[in-house]
Amino acid sequence: MIDIKHTIDVVIIGAGMVGAALASGLAQKGFEVVVIEKAPPPPIFNSLSNPDLRISAITTSSVTLLKKIKVWPYVLIMRCAPYRTQEIWEYQMAHVKFDAKSLGLTELGYMIENDILKYALSKRLHNQSVPIFYKKSLKDLQQRYKIWNITLNDGISLKARLVIGADGAYSQVRKLANIGFYFWRYAQSCMLISVLCNYPPGDNTWQKFTPDGPRAFLPLFGNWALLVWYDKLDRLCQLQSLTMLKLQKEIQIHFPSCVGEVMPLVTTILPLYRSHAKNYILPGLALVGDSAHTVHPLAGQGVNLGYRDVSALLDVLIEAREYSDQWFSLEILERYQNQRKKDNYIMQNGIDVLYFMFNYKFLPLKIMRNLGLMIANYSGKLKKDMLSYGLGLSSSKSQNL
Ligand SMILES: Cc1cc2nc3c(=O)[nH]c(=O)nc-3n(C[C@H](O)[C@H](O)[C@H](O)COP(=O)(O)OP(=O)(O)OC[C@H]3O[C@@H](n4cnc5c(N)ncnc54)[C@H](O)[C@@H]3O)c2cc1C
Repeated sequence: MIDIKHTIDVVIIGAGMVGAALASGLAQKGFEVVVIEKAPPPPIFNSLSNPDLRISAITTSSVTLLKKIKVWPYVLIMRCAPYRTQEIWEYQMAHVKFDAKSLGLTELGYMIENDILKYALSKRLHNQSVPIFYKKSLKDLQQRYKIWNITLNDGISLKARLVIGADGAYSQVRKLANIGFYFWRYAQSCMLISVLCNYPPGDNTWQKFTPDGPRAFLPLFGNWALLVWYDKLDRLCQLQSLTMLKLQKEIQIHFPSCVGEVMPLVTTILPLYRSHAKNYILPGLALVGDSAHTVHPLAGQGVNLGYRDVSALLDVLIEAREYSDQWFSLEILERYQNQRKKDNYIMQNGIDVLYFMFNYKFLPLKIMRNLGLMIANYSGKLKKDMLSYGLGLSSSKSQNL
């Protein structure tokens, strides 16, 4: 039962991987935070369970944030798998291989099950005494005299100086605040396939581009791995209707031979879309993560961009409060938007260039894109810069945590 009469510093709508991380960072710096989450709590970790189908490649700079907010130890005692190299190609001769060692890193990042990260975040929030109200959703938002009145589906209301929309791609906060957004659905969908390999999958993640869509391999723990098959929805539905033995044969035909012998066990199909909010902020309100922007997952950037939002917003709010500024004012929040909106837009476009370039069978374009990959592989500094950018090492990091 929620019974909070006073005005709370920050109410976060959505305890996904992004909203919960922001809540933890703010609470660590003394902000009073309350989190509202529509879904039930994440499942308790069971070390004997098979991996979840929803996996995220969390880059090293996102791991740095998770370490700063003291969530990382919770992830480590459950499970995650480091990846140290990453390869992309269309034809073998034009192959780009990124290596953590080239940047003096021990790994590029970790493959983490979304539910494990959410569970780790919920444990950390519990230890910080941050209330998360599960199975409650936002119904209405009204601002009066610089304070937001937040009404939940069960009629309970809360008051907050700052409301955060961390409620995903179909954000209710964005909708109720009348913030417009651009949205389009990609012609491709993706099928996630949990597979058991007949070998330990190592620490190399790869993606082969084909004109029908990329085929990707994400190594997990034990002999587990995740395959991602991008294609038209009809084709994926046809694949999903096959028996696992027939699907295994299709994998052998349509994935590169380096996939080896794998046994598919579970699949799911997801639609893919790109969206971008026209504005991330209003007085006393900010959007973070997928409520502000979504990208095609081929570059594994969605939640990592969300973590860059979290780092930037934490910096802005913590610094403003230290200087006794009105930290929830539009003027202060503009600093957050200025740091993040352009960066997210550039990343969205970069990913779409890859998506469209590799989507066509037109020969001159094929030659151009493969030449591009060859040049990228031997480009030295440019290759390192591309890797740093992809890992978020060149953008804002939270200085104040
Ligand atoms: C196939 C696929 C693969 C991906 N792989 C990667 C990857 O490898 N690396 C990566 O960085 N990203 C990846 N992503 C993207 C990543 O999953 C998203 O960017 C990430 O989940 C966004 O997190 P979020 O917390 O912003 O939003 P969400 O995960 O959508 O969380 C929003 C939360 O808000 C809650 N909520 C919604 N509405 C309300 C409401 N009205 N009231 C209260 N609560 C509400 C929801 O229940 C949910 O818990 C992938 C995406 C897809 C589709």
